[in-house]
Amino acid sequence: MKKHNYSAGPCILPQEVFEKAAQAVLNFNDSGLSILEISHRSKDFVAVMEEARALALELLGLTGKGYQALFLQGGASLEFLRVPYNLLKENGQAAYLDTGTWANAAIKEAKPFGETLVVASSKPENYNHIPKNYTVPATADYFHCTSNNTIFGTQIKEFPALDIPVVCDMSSDIFSRQLDFTKFDLIYAGAQKNMGPAGTTLIVVKESILGTTGRNIPNILNYQQHIEKESMYNTPPVFAVYTSLLTLQWLKNLGGIPAIEKINEAKATLLYTEIDRNPLFRGTAAKEDRSNMNATFLLNDEAHAPVFDGLWKAAGISGLPGHRSVGGYRASMYNALPLESVQVLVDVMKDLETKV
Ligand code: PMP
Repeated sequence: MKKHNYSAGPCILPQEVFEKAAQAVLNFNDSGLSILEISHRSKDFVAVMEEARALALELLGLTGKGYQALFLQGGASLEFLRVPYNLLKENGQAAYLDTGTWANAAIKEAKPFGETLVVASSKPENYNHIPKNYTVPATADYFHCTSNNTIFGTQIKEFPALDIPVVCDMSSDIFSRQLDFTKFDLIYAGAQKNMGPAGTTLIVVKESILGTTGRNIPNILNYQQHIEKESMYNTPPVFAVYTSLLTLQWLKNLGGIPAIEKINEAKATLLYTEIDRNPLFRGTAAKEDRSNMNATFLLNDEAHAPVFDGLWKAAGISGLPGHRSVGGYRASMYNALPLESVQVLVDVMKDLETKV
């Protein structure tokens, strides 16, 4: 029986995507060949890449606005490095908002390229909120933030309006909520949450911000090279790109980001209402910054853990234990997780009250 999968990533994808992807491994487009055994330069795969790139821009409302979408490899972690390589000028300065483990990792990778200014950090409070009221120098080469902090269960609700390029790691909430995506100049996201399997990273970049550092950038790290080669500079991760395309098609058929946002809000409201109502639990993130993707919560009395763990496992729930940096529980409610799965978890939380 299919589990209620709360894994933080890689994570649940739509069942129809799993089925279509499995079919393509056996017989892609009725060609008598697996998608895994054809050339990435074949007409059929080039069409996949082109549609995936176009559909990513379409869903974000960025078609025809000077943006390019790329599907590259190396995970979001490689973008921590590729961003400063491409955007941080020699002797320049980059501004970073430190909201969690991944934001911190991005800062560390930028350091060898120039001055990294941390405009604000919630590290002293174990990243339980999003810092507000910080200032970003107008002279910085770019501002980098992390829209959703997968580990700590916080999410940026208001992004600063700046006159410098805004770069955002949207790995764990891309395609989940409506934003004015034109406010961002570079967005990147590892596929393995809301888009597809691990193995590809979506990069959406406004072309006009590139080519200004004066730095000699190796081709494989150079966004401009990847744009010129239409995301085929080297062999792309064909299966990850194809499966991402299937998920983007699923999202489009559902009604795009406005439709999924409503479902995501319903799921988050259902769970957070129970976390706040149930005297056995408490949330870990500041209420105004709570993530609609990853809800982090603790038992008020750790002694109840064996009973609670037994209950949710028996209910067919998987992937609920929290990250070691926070402890407790983390319910990751990505796009493909149905509302019914959240109801099952809420019922288990209510059930615990009758058992302890
Ligand atoms: N950024 C965020 C917000 C993440 O959640 C993760 C992984 N969970 C990463 C970056 C790192 O991604 P990857 O493993 O693809 O390098």
